Amino acid sequence: MKTCTSLRCGQDYDETDPEAVKYHTEPVNCSQSCRCAGRPACYTCHGSFCYCVQH
Ligand SMILES: [Zn+2]
Ligand SMILES: [Zn+2]
Ligand SMILES: [Zn+2]
Repeated sequence: MKTCTSLRCGQDYDETDPEAVKYHTEPVNCSQSCRCAGRPACYTCHGSFCYCVQH
């Protein structure tokens, strides 16, 4: 198990599971102008201009 270092996540995930690794490490482009841009899917900035419910 590995602990996600992404802000506001901190969940443990199985580093042998490609889906989990992708979710917690691979940057997504959600085409929003908030701080989620370029962060892994598990990250949500919850900023006032953030319209991401989840990635
Ligand atoms: Zn994460
Ligand atoms: Zn987003
Ligand atoms: Zn955001």
